[in-house]
Amino acid sequence: MTDSAPLATALASLPGARRIAPPRLSADGVASVILDVTGLDATARDALETEVRGRLAMVPGVREVRLVQTAEKAERRLIAVASGKGGVGKSTLSANLAIALRRLGHRTGLVDADIYGPSQPRLMAAEGEKPMAHDKQLLPIMTRYGVPMLSMGQLVAPEKALAWRGPMASGALGQLVDARWDETDILVVDLPPGTGDVQLSMIQKHRPAGAVIVSTPQDLALIDAARAIDLFNTAGIPILGLVENMAGYVCPHCGEVSDPFGRGGAEAEAARLGIPFLGRVPLDIAIRRASDAGEPPAAGDDTAAAPFLAIAEKVAAGLNLRRS
Ligand code: ADP
Repeated sequence: MTDSAPLATALASLPGARRIAPPRLSADGVASVILDVTGLDATARDALETEVRGRLAMVPGVREVRLVQTAEKAERRLIAVASGKGGVGKSTLSANLAIALRRLGHRTGLVDADIYGPSQPRLMAAEGEKPMAHDKQLLPIMTRYGVPMLSMGQLVAPEKALAWRGPMASGALGQLVDARWDETDILVVDLPPGTGDVQLSMIQKHRPAGAVIVSTPQDLALIDAARAIDLFNTAGIPILGLVENMAGYVCPHCGEVSDPFGRGGAEAEAARLGIPFLGRVPLDIAIRRASDAGEPPAAGDDTAAAPFLAIAEKVAAGLNLRRS
């Protein structure tokens, strides 16, 4: 047997040593080595390969170095944002969550799967922009907030999407989720309200890593939210938590916060259901104005962004995300 130990010794002090499977030396002087280059950019990969080749070539008895690079397939994780009914601020939360995750250093994309009212192009100031396709794969558009995005609204006129039957809607969802999201680790998916075909297709075909449920403080919305929670629970998709939107009214004149719909309903409901409470976003005319203007508060100054950044931190912690 040929002794491969000197090869390992030659590489031991390398900073990237843990990426190298134990090298082998054949009887005729061929050193073989496998490098795990997961997560390295092209420059770092080349530098590591050159260094490893150089060191192995110096080992006595080595005539040739054969090196193979491997990388784990990038694992992209989907966060499903769901609500029991429409109008609770699910799309607003999705846009701001995506931007807040990006601000926290996570490479995040946004999918607008809401066939009933695709509003992300407006929220993200990208109305009228159409994605291009390459090899039958859609290329997300890059928004001015550093979050790439695709929307049902870019595929079809809203009144047509409404008439879609299940298979068409789930086919369209597939096109959005399986697009060229190259440098993206997380996809925030804004689902339609309720528990219909798009939700089922999302759960069965695309297996989100977790779900965020958005609700207003009213009890009725909470009953609806409970159905959405049930759907994910039954399918074994972790519920990352509940967001209470439009919680407390911020007076545009004096800034005082009052609670027209009651307070704490969502937090109590989350506790009752045993799921995390992610935080509350106040009912604030400034949020609606900023949203209409395509200027999501999460991209704004620290005060406006604060509730969304806090929610994003909890979501990232729930997914055990590391910054890239
Ligand atoms: P959904 O996606 O659940 O249908 P949207 O995100 O489209 O709901 O929100 C519905 C409306 O409520 C929009 O006009 C939006 O600007 C407004 N809105 C959402 N959240 C808030 C909030 N916290 N304060 C004020 N307006 C809000």
